Amino acid sequence: MKLEDIRKVGVVGAGTMGNGIAQVCAMAGYQVVMRDVTMELAQRGLNTIKKSLDRLIKKGSLSEGDKGAVLSRIQLTEKLEDLADADFVVEAVTENVEIKEGVFKTLDGLCRPEVILASNTSSISITKIASFTKRPSQVIGMHFMNPVPVMKLIEVIKGLQTSKETADLVVALSEKLGKVPVVIQDSPGFVSNRVLMPMINEAIFALYEGVGSPEAIDTIMRLGANHPMGPLTLADLIGLDTTLYILQVMYDSFGDPKYRPCPLLVKMVDAGYLGRKSGKGFYDYSK
Ligand code: NAD
Repeated sequence: MKLEDIRKVGVVGAGTMGNGIAQVCAMAGYQVVMRDVTMELAQRGLNTIKKSLDRLIKKGSLSEGDKGAVLSRIQLTEKLEDLADADFVVEAVTENVEIKEGVFKTLDGLCRPEVILASNTSSISITKIASFTKRPSQVIGMHFMNPVPVMKLIEVIKGLQTSKETADLVVALSEKLGKVPVVIQDSPGFVSNRVLMPMINEAIFALYEGVGSPEAIDTIMRLGANHPMGPLTLADLIGLDTTLYILQVMYDSFGDPKYRPCPLLVKMVDAGYLGRKSGKGFYDYSK
């Protein structure tokens, strides 16, 4: 498979990341088919894309005509079979290994043998995900950052069996999407989350122990370390369920207590406080 052979991109999952990935692919001229488990969830993803395109129009970087063209390239579906003719697939479903296993097994049976299956997982082993398929050399991590239309980086993760051809194609595709790819080897949490998540977890521990309020902790890291947003605001943006899952994967994989998730994070996820996407996390987003 060559870059020119890719015309249609399948995106599995229309949540926080999936709709952003669908948007940047459609903006780069690709036909996109975006799948979630119900049409309602897929439509919700499309509504987020519309709002994002409207923001670009307001900023003067997109015309109304371009918006129409981008939207016309995005097809919604609740059936994974509709990805059967995709030339490249990016999976962005819930960060849970059993769910990903089901998706990759089905995709492996559906998609043409030469098609690359990329995962946007934040922490799950790419080598493990590849083992769910009969094409491990064509399975790779393509880790977009949140929010996808804004963030430049794509962390490209080679599993133990990922071929050079697969990695080269994903690098070329990432550049075509206007992003900056960085290739690394498979390891729990990769580089981005291995470095980021212990900081977020430590900020949650500081809150748990009453060292400071969410505002105080975030302001200290914004103004003191020059971070664009504080760690608790960032956790709310990532999603507290996703944050917890990533910490658990690193904790289990390394067997090192330094990755143990803060009990406050566990409690918040149990309560359904998932951050921005649920309207409540360390901050209130209901208004
Ligand atoms: P999310 O909860 O916002 O969205 C996940 C979506 O997947 C939901 O809409 C859910 O209905 C859907 N889904 C579940 N099972 C499905 C299936 N079998 N087929 C199709 N859709 C299915 O989660 P998210 O934040 O978008 O995370 C998606 C992936 O991206 C995860 O692997 C996560 O680790 C990764 N990721 C997240 C971030 C972040 O900041 N949130 C950043 C980088 C990578």
